[in-house]
Amino acid sequence: MSDPQYKILLIDDEEVVLDSCVRMLRGSNYEVATANDGAKGVALAKEFHPDLIIVDLKMPGISGLEVLEQVHQFDPTIVSIMLTGYATVGSAVDAMKKGACDFLPKPITPDEFRLVVTRALERRRLILEAQALRREKELLREQFAAIVSHELKSPLGALQQNLFLLAEELSDKLTDEQRQRMERMKVRVTDLMKLIQTWLRLISTDISKIRDHFHPVALRDVVAKAIESVQNEATRKAIEILTEGADTPCRVNGDEGTLVQALVNLLNNAIKYSHSGTEIQLRVTEEDDKVAIAVSDSGVGIAPDELPHVFEDFYRAPSSAQGQQGAGLGLPLSRRIVEAHDGTISVTSEPGKGSTFVIRLPALKTSQGETL
Ligand code: ADP
Repeated sequence: MSDPQYKILLIDDEEVVLDSCVRMLRGSNYEVATANDGAKGVALAKEFHPDLIIVDLKMPGISGLEVLEQVHQFDPTIVSIMLTGYATVGSAVDAMKKGACDFLPKPITPDEFRLVVTRALERRRLILEAQALRREKELLREQFAAIVSHELKSPLGALQQNLFLLAEELSDKLTDEQRQRMERMKVRVTDLMKLIQTWLRLISTDISKIRDHFHPVALRDVVAKAIESVQNEATRKAIEILTEGADTPCRVNGDEGTLVQALVNLLNNAIKYSHSGTEIQLRVTEEDDKVAIAVSDSGVGIAPDELPHVFEDFYRAPSSAQGQQGAGLGLPLSRRIVEAHDGTISVTSEPGKGSTFVIRLPALKTSQGETL
């Protein structure tokens, strides 16, 4: 397989630097474009789709750092090299922070230039490879989930319906022991059905479709419905759900049903991974243009090295999941729902002390005189 032809965009206000860079790249299998100021460079980057941008730090108009910032807004995978006449540590550090993968002090020597370019393009190759792998994994996950849910959901639905009918028809003919077995079967089948439905919701296309029906949603309704749906389970474990700020006037642009589901998952986990007789705190707070819903428990907690994985599909943290039923799908589903609402979800936890999960959503501004 031949190497891909990489595209390089050179941005510098000094024609002589542009010319010498073009000359140094001659003979290599690169497609090269040039721009003599930052604004033109950004515009060209949008059309030319470069793999690598080599940009001068100090230019009239937009500086090299601003160019990188703007370019990374529409394509964070483009790699870049900062040219600097001011090879101070500070400017190099700034450049790296803005995403430049290397910097070159002027005057540039051909050997050094080619080396840095090769290194940057190798990095670009790795980024593209990782991106392709992620896409492939996502596609496989969607296909797998779609096939399995389809192949399982219909037959299981029929089984469930027949089982419920049979249980009703035989209700006065069964012995107590048979009735108990029948009840256990109903519970297991219902659990399995719920799991498959969660899978179906997990398929990202379903989640992205909900955006089409977004409308202002009162957060206090989301909170009330979520609490209502877990209340029985909390009572069964003698766990009290305490609220603060739950009568918030805040609204968000979204889909009420899925937002309730995202919060129910957090509350269910808080109950599941807490000891009987403890308390769960649900706190709603406004933070500038966002609203945060925090669910805190004083349960088993999660080990620090497991914490970064809890939002991954099928992940179950060994330190807390042991002995508890679950599929490792609740938190990834909550994450997808929250992200579809342009929000974030985060967690802090201390083993043996408890965990706090926080959903942050952009708050809708209440227009003057509007009542909720
Ligand atoms: P599960 O069905 O296993 O609960 P989730 O996706 O909801 O799946 O959660 C993933 C894992 O994160 C759980 O298996 C558990 O190990 C951990 N976890 C989630 N919430 C809590 C919590 N409140 N306290 C302790 N561990 C938790």
